[in-house]
This record gives sequence, structure tokens and C-alpha cells, in this order.
Amino acid sequence: MYEADIASVLISEDDIRRRTSELAEEVAARYPEGGPDGDLLLIGVLKGAIFFMTDFARALPIPAQMEFMAVSSYGSSTSSSGVVRILKDLDKDIEGRHVLIVEDIIDSGLTLSWLIRNLETRNPASLDVVTLLRKPEATKVEIDVEYIGFDIPNEFVVGYGLDYAERYRDLPYIGTLDPSVYGG
Ligand code: 5GP
Ligand code: MG
Ligand code: MG
Repeated sequence: MYEADIASVLISEDDIRRRTSELAEEVAARYPEGGPDGDLLLIGVLKGAIFFMTDFARALPIPAQMEFMAVSSYGSSTSSSGVVRILKDLDKDIEGRHVLIVEDIIDSGLTLSWLIRNLETRNPASLDVVTLLRKPEATKVEIDVEYIGFDIPNEFVVGYGLDYAERYRDLPYIGTLDPSVYGG
């Protein structure tokens, strides 16, 4: 499916699986096992992080709980403005919890820095970020991202949760789109 629309495979299914396990091991080494309220709390950012979130959670060798947030950043479909609106908030209080934000991609970093500031006001015991992908722009902003899957070039990518106009999230790998897709 979609073959005609994909210009290149940037990160294969195997590469994603391997790197996800490495990140999960790294993260697990940092958090002590806690018991119900001490468990690591993963906060997945919908919708892009869904596949990474579920694969990462299953690769984690420590217990983790899962919550989801959905945010929308005003701007075009391919770039964000930093003005963020919460579409779906957390169902639970995170005060005193060890929280790990699970992101798909950091581009300008505006969405994430807003989210970090928002969650910090809720007084978690700790707050860190794991992202599958990071683009070059993101290295310029002052946000503390502990765990990064892959640094990728400044290209628009789809697949493994990432969309173009809501399509291609269900691709099992990360790829770039053929220019004909944008052209209509
Ligand atoms: P930022 O606020 O860091 O500029 O943007 C983060 C959000 O923009 C991501 O969560 C994602 O929704 C979208 N985004 C940024 N780069 C890409 C990309 O290459 N492909 C896709 N599909 N979405 C992207
Ligand atoms: Mg995201
Ligand atoms: Mg999108």
C-alpha cells in the first residue's frame, strides 16, 4: 500500500524496533521500580506518538502506566506556531509522579516546550522526554530531551504514527513522500 506515494524509506521497521529497545533499556536503568503510585507514567502525545508509545511501553522492562494527551498547535499542516491548545487533557493528577513524555517528533520544539511548561505546573516528581525523531531545528531550542531515537534531516516524514493530512500513519516505517503527493 502507499508504495507510489513514498519516495524513500528513511528508517526501517527493524531500525525502529532496535532503537526502541535500546531507549527502553536506557530509560529503565534510570527509574527505580516503584509500586502502583511510584510506577513510571508515560504520557503519549496523540496522535503521532501512538505506535512509538505502545512499542516503547512493551519494550520497557519495568512497569509503566500510560496516559494520553492531545494537543493542537495552530499553524499550517507542516509547521507549528507554538500556540497550543489542549484537545484532550490527562484524566489523572500527575503530582508526585515520575513522568516521561513520549513524543513522535520534535521539529521547532515549540509544541514540546509548551507541553513541558504546562506539565511542570502540575508538580510531577520528575519530568523527562523521549522522542523517536528529532529534526535539526530542535537542537536550537532550550529544551531538555533526555532520550532521542534518531536525528533526521530537515525533511517532512510520514509513517509509524506520523501523518500527512491524516494519511500514512499506518505505514510501519518512516519515509519521505513523493512530491506528487503535495502537488495533488
Ligand atoms: P514542533 O512544535 O516541534 O515544530 O512540531 C511538532 C509537531 O509537528 C509534531 O508532533 C508533528 O505533529 C508535526 N511535525 C513536525 N515535523 C513533522 C514531519 O516531518 N512529519 C509529520 N508528519 N509531522 C511533523
Ligand atoms: Mg508530537
Ligand atoms: Mg500531523
